[in-house]
Amino acid sequence: MFLFSYIMKIIFATHNKHKIEEIRHLADKRFTFLSLQDIDLTGDIPEDYQTLEENALFKARFIFQKTGIPTFADDTGLEIAGLNNRPGVFSARYAGANKDDQANMDKVLKELKNTNDRSARFRTVIAFVWSKEKEKLFEGIVNGKIGLDKKGEQGFGYDPVFIPGGYNITFAEMPLDVKNSISHRSRAFKKFISFLNKEFLNDKA
Ligand code: IMP
Repeated sequence: MFLFSYIMKIIFATHNKHKIEEIRHLADKRFTFLSLQDIDLTGDIPEDYQTLEENALFKARFIFQKTGIPTFADDTGLEIAGLNNRPGVFSARYAGANKDDQANMDKVLKELKNTNDRSARFRTVIAFVWSKEKEKLFEGIVNGKIGLDKKGEQGFGYDPVFIPGGYNITFAEMPLDVKNSISHRSRAFKKFISFLNKEFLNDKA
């Protein structure tokens, strides 16, 4: 643990501008988050593993090895109990390689016609690599269920079919700031940020 008065650079191994904005908004301003575009890396990093943890670790290690700069990466899956936790790590490409959100949701709704258990959760895993020996995983979960059909226009991905616990509307029917305050990703981000504060800002809270 050490104190510093300079800005600490951390790479977020993503091309997604919304995710970068979300972490910048939540974290202490002494951390500067760089996206892959900021370090001139344009290609996608493969996500070929069978678990969220392996995918996130691979991406973070890959960029840390290339740059020597502390790096974190995330991976998210929608885990549906009645479908043996599918689509899970395959959420983006569930209905095919072209990552079609509508087709993905249609596939899930069709498969759930034969089951009564519609309970589901979004799970985000963050992997942080900040030296050759130092790696840590963080997890954020939001429990809920899959609706009977698609509802709402906000958000992205499976938002129109996911109803978070304690609500009777889908993620896609909520204002984005409400979704962001309870989402799997923000929960994982908050755990990660609290770790950064303790480890690098000497925050005892
Ligand atoms: P990623 O790891 O953030 O790229 O997420 C993988 C896939 O999970 C996305 O392509 C979406 O299909 C789905 N997903 C992740 N986060 C969300 C969310 O907040 N709402 C809806 N779908 C999501």
